[in-house]
Amino acid sequence: MIGAIVVGAAGRMGATVIRTIHETEGIEISGAVERPDHPFLNRDIGELSGLGEIGVPLTGDIEGAVEAGDVVVDFTNAEVSLRSLEVCSAKGVAAVVGSTGFTPEQMEKVAGLAKRMRCVLSPNMSVGVNVMFKLVREVAGILGDEYDVEILEAHHRFKKDSPSGTAMKLGEIAASALKRDFGQVGVFGRRGVIGERTSREIGMQAVRAGDIVGEHTVMFGGLGERVELTHRSHSRDNFARGAIRAAKWVITQPNGLYDMGDVLGLK
Ligand code: NAD
Repeated sequence: MIGAIVVGAAGRMGATVIRTIHETEGIEISGAVERPDHPFLNRDIGELSGLGEIGVPLTGDIEGAVEAGDVVVDFTNAEVSLRSLEVCSAKGVAAVVGSTGFTPEQMEKVAGLAKRMRCVLSPNMSVGVNVMFKLVREVAGILGDEYDVEILEAHHRFKKDSPSGTAMKLGEIAASALKRDFGQVGVFGRRGVIGERTSREIGMQAVRAGDIVGEHTVMFGGLGERVELTHRSHSRDNFARGAIRAAKWVITQPNGLYDMGDVLGLK
């Protein structure tokens, strides 16, 4: 039986991961971690998640919690996840990180830590989105420079980072398939008299409204037609299921930094 320690256990994704692990064979909840000032510390995470008592209290002590399991599943934010990875690498525990919003400097630190541990980090754990990553690479390569690439994403009003980590990854994939540097060609929102669209830019638009779980469209606009690839998440369950699949997979791998493409064998 694999023991999972869920970090950010009382958050939207954390709670979904707790419920999904509870109903998945071969993996169990061996720890639940929250910020040290969380009002529900010491209460049973099963009860907090509507599962009934499971004998795992919510704790603010990640170092202690990590010792009780095999793999950390962390959906918090980039800063907290970096700290989780430091603890995991020191204690020889694997990690699955779903947090988004990592800066390039933070990603360098993640890559450094992953030399001494097994880690899956993916801005989107959904199987469908990862298939979409592969399709975008192929479609961009086939359609080439004649088609304008625009990426639209929509999320709930509580989301803190923008554009979404998934939209950024879609932009990077399209740019690399078109032999462009996303850092140079990404255009984030447009306003005013901006002149004609340049052919190499990749537009990024972010909508925030209500309780939208997550939607991404990559539009390839040509003259007389357009191709659109769209993924819509109906609930957070698909992210949680992907994270658990990653947790089961990563504990069998050598040290290194992996993403969901590796987990799903899409590379
Ligand atoms: P949320 O705000 O509901 O949950 C985050 C939780 O982390 C909160 O409960 C918060 O108290 C907790 N936290 C903060 N500091 C902590 C600390 N020091 N130690 C332990 N826990 C701490 O947010 P959410 O909607 O669940 O999203 C969390 C992250 O996951 C975001 O970065 C989001 O973009 C990302 N996300 C990723 C995927 C994916 O598939 N990879 C899917 C959905 C969301």
